[in-house]
Amino acid sequence: MKVNYGGFVDLSTIDWPGRAVCTVFFRGCPLRCSYCHNATIQAGSDLRDINEILDAIRDARMLVSGVIFSGGEPTMQAEPLVALAGAVKEMGLAVGVQTNGYFPDMLALLIDGGLVDRIALDYKTRWEGFSKRWEGYAEKCAHDYTTQAARSLKICDEASQSGRLSDFEVVLTIFGGNEKEVLEIAGHLPRGTLVLQQGVFKRFWKDWEETGNGDLSDEEIASQRQPLTVGELEHLA
Ligand code: SF4
Repeated sequence: MKVNYGGFVDLSTIDWPGRAVCTVFFRGCPLRCSYCHNATIQAGSDLRDINEILDAIRDARMLVSGVIFSGGEPTMQAEPLVALAGAVKEMGLAVGVQTNGYFPDMLALLIDGGLVDRIALDYKTRWEGFSKRWEGYAEKCAHDYTTQAARSLKICDEASQSGRLSDFEVVLTIFGGNEKEVLEIAGHLPRGTLVLQQGVFKRFWKDWEETGNGDLSDEEIASQRQPLTVGELEHLA
């Protein structure tokens, strides 16, 4: 079985609080966030046998107690994700998934199958302009993001409340300028762990489509939205 592969980190201490983990990046994502930290693996193809990934995890086995599947969007590749998560569980390692929440049925499948211990749901704010940019993923993305993410939130929250998902957090990415929307969204989220993540602003997709800002450099675009200070973040939290 093949996975569209985006990369591998054999030791990460930042992806799962309290654990040292391996992180496997899946290539491909239906969204196009303005701040994407992994834009180079949003698209394209690099098919690898899943045994190659499992060998890499086995090599790192002595140093880690879990594996995080990230991306891109790992839940977009259902079969390899289920196969890898199952194999990782059989190794006695914990499984975590970082997701944008676009594929709630996959999250339900993982939870119901006992294949995931931690889900970090990166809930997108509304102003990012991602909804127009499927770029080859239209077949998989018939629904709007908000509907899908709301279902994912409900599934994860219920699983968390019932003890079927031991570790669940929602992540919101924030910049100067979207504080109001982040607060509004946070008001609708289930109770639990909410992580505010400082984003590096790049550009709205609508910069090209509507404003003609496409000629600006990344630095010029970034300067339009300054990072928040620690004090400003504390005030929001
Ligand atoms: S959901 Fe994640 S991988 Fe996809 S575009 Fe947004 S930040 Fe990048």
